[in-house]
Amino acid sequence: MKINSARLQQHFEAMSLIGKIGETGTCRPAHSELEKQAFELAASWMTDAGMKTHIDNFGNLIGRLEGKNPLLPVFMMGSHLDSQPYGGRFDGVAGVLCAIEVVATLTENKVQPERPIEIISFADEEGWRFNKGLFGSRGILGKLEEGELQRTDKDGITRQQALKDFGCDVTQFPASTYPQGSIFCFLELHIEQGPILDLANKPIGVVSGISGPLWLTVKLKGMAGHTGSVPMAIRKDALVGTAEIIVAVNEIATQIPGAPTVGSVGTINVFPASRNIIPEEAEFTIDLRDIDLERRNRYEKQLRNRIEAIAAKHQLTYSISEDTKSDPRYCADWIKEIIHNQCESLNLSAPELMSGPFHDALALSYACDYGMIFVRCKDGISHNPLEYSSPEDLAVATNVMLGTVSEILKR
Ligand SMILES: [Zn+2]
Repeated sequence: MKINSARLQQHFEAMSLIGKIGETGTCRPAHSELEKQAFELAASWMTDAGMKTHIDNFGNLIGRLEGKNPLLPVFMMGSHLDSQPYGGRFDGVAGVLCAIEVVATLTENKVQPERPIEIISFADEEGWRFNKGLFGSRGILGKLEEGELQRTDKDGITRQQALKDFGCDVTQFPASTYPQGSIFCFLELHIEQGPILDLANKPIGVVSGISGPLWLTVKLKGMAGHTGSVPMAIRKDALVGTAEIIVAVNEIATQIPGAPTVGSVGTINVFPASRNIIPEEAEFTIDLRDIDLERRNRYEKQLRNRIEAIAAKHQLTYSISEDTKSDPRYCADWIKEIIHNQCESLNLSAPELMSGPFHDALALSYACDYGMIFVRCKDGISHNPLEYSSPEDLAVATNVMLGTVSEILKR
């Protein structure tokens, strides 16, 4: 059994037109009209592959291939079709389209599995619109947090309103959740979003686990004043404090050369944002990740101490809110072994690597065993219109996935 690589490539090309920006970029915000269009297109391919489709109350697109025994725990695959505001054509898309191609191939070969297979395009994996990601994948597991529906996007639209506009009924979340034990395992194919496979000249990687992100939002408050008159010595400049904290994040994350720790400040909002007013408030987000939880906890403590000291130095008050804190999660050995065997049978040597970015699989890891297949992306570029994985690599990865699925279905 082999997948149809021409069809797969056509699907990538058709999907890239929805929310296209520039020559090769994509902007498909979560719960948007563009995501709806992407869902309709993907659903048509799921239907062609013999699946029944629906959109649940979290805004997830779900395709189901019925098993001979519909009561068995479902074998789940998937990823996401929402994108970064300035994103590429493969992040998330690969995990949905390659899974559809796998199921289409099974159906064409008249394979009806014992257990049901579901492919989900999870809602709002990316997390930039409401400053919190993995919405759909946490939603189906009953893992949403207090106040999540009241989070707003930059236009002041709440998550609740966006879901309603998308056609979801937020009072019916329980009807869309998966009871414990109802998911057999989860498999996600994703582009690597880093340079390791490209540097090693290998098309495929077997993921060993996902390092946990810590997302903080920090607010600093000082005192506004005229930039032309207030003496430097008595200023309470929130943006100067922010600048020192940004440097501190960088220093903390780089203190062990070569370690996989990463830390960044990705957004800043300044108030009142006038060229001749001393910045009174600054709010910014910190993203700190490590595969070593003990080390990440140690760095978090260092970071909080530095923030306190820097705020004191500039006479600022501050608050820190925690948006996300996940532990590193490791892939199931038995699924890794199957993926390795499939790679070997296709004469591929596939290195094992950790994922720095999080994925929907991170949420699913709390409900079932999971595995991930990484596909090489050019120069490791992602979250950027220049993101690129070749049709050849995607086809090879999908064949690895097909073999993996066939083996998992024997269990
Ligand atoms: Zn992704």
